[in-house]
Amino acid sequence: MLAKEFEFHAPEELDAALGVLGNGGGIVKVLAGGMSLVPAMNLGLVRPDTVLSLNHVRGLDQVEDRGDSIAIGAMVRHDRIAADPEIGSAFPLLATAARAIGDVQIRHRGTFGGSLAHADPAADYLPVMTVLGATLRLRSSDGERIVPAREFFVDIMLTDLGRDELLVEVEVPKQPDSARSAYVRLARVEGSFAIVNAAAVVDEGKAAIAIGGATGAPVLIEPDVDLSGGLSEEALEEIGDSAYEATDEAFGDLNSSAEYRRELARVFARRAVQTALGQRDGGPE
Ligand SMILES: Cc1cc2nc3c(=O)[nH]c(=O)nc-3n(C[C@H](O)[C@H](O)[C@H](O)COP(=O)(O)OP(=O)(O)OC[C@H]3O[C@@H](n4cnc5c(N)ncnc54)[C@H](O)[C@@H]3O)c2cc1C
Repeated sequence: MLAKEFEFHAPEELDAALGVLGNGGGIVKVLAGGMSLVPAMNLGLVRPDTVLSLNHVRGLDQVEDRGDSIAIGAMVRHDRIAADPEIGSAFPLLATAARAIGDVQIRHRGTFGGSLAHADPAADYLPVMTVLGATLRLRSSDGERIVPAREFFVDIMLTDLGRDELLVEVEVPKQPDSARSAYVRLARVEGSFAIVNAAAVVDEGKAAIAIGGATGAPVLIEPDVDLSGGLSEEALEEIGDSAYEATDEAFGDLNSSAEYRRELARVFARRAVQTALGQRDGGPE
């Protein structure tokens, strides 16, 4: 049962959508895949006066190769991210992350932009976009802003998105051919949110690792290690220690204490780098 009546808009043009967002009555909520918004409305946790659906807005569901980057529209669904050959070849870790999301129904309805805007700390895309250095295009009736993923995620379900702004597209820079990458996660059961996840890019002896699920927003670490001669036990220790130190603001909940999350951050940062370098398959230890 829906908790409250609301006005519903389903425009076909972006300008019309931005108009509703800027001028709609009362609390306006954007509906993308509805996989997070609709349950929240059913529970009465969110009580919008106006619901603005993006499902018919033209141009938001494109994947475009721009040479040095790939632009992914906000309304591209998880199942397309998981299967798109351009995305899979440029960012295999992003395809891995999409395949890990929920179940087949969630992946068919849920959207890339919806997940990023919702910013659940355990969402699979957050560390991936952070480590890849993606930028988010935000539009309002007044213009647009480009915000790096590394600044967009602020805290638990809190982003830099203004009330009158829509996330319309994410541009992900292609990695050099020499780069190796991986995405790994721990969930209690298959199909559920990760408790902690990690995405790594290793190139020219350096590693960058983004850790999600431990803290309100993903943390990015660039440990002081040189992997050009291989992955030594000392380097692995340093990577794990850096992850542990960087997650000192970890939170606890029913799934896990804060301290356990920090230990998972240690393990999964190491595991992401090992997986990127082909030394393990990303499965349980
Ligand atoms: C049972 C279940 C299991 C799940 N498991 C996982 C999982 O394992 N991993 C994972 O990452 N996610 C998981 N999810 C979440 C799923 O990925 C959702 O698809 C996602 O969080 C929200 O995307 P959506 O398109 O459905 O957005 P919606 O639910 O429509 O919207 C979510 C929020 O984002 C806002 N919003 C949406 N699009 C935009 C936009 N373009 N611009 C501005 N604001 C916008 C909405 O107003 C709303 O506040 C799960 C969800 C369920 C129900």
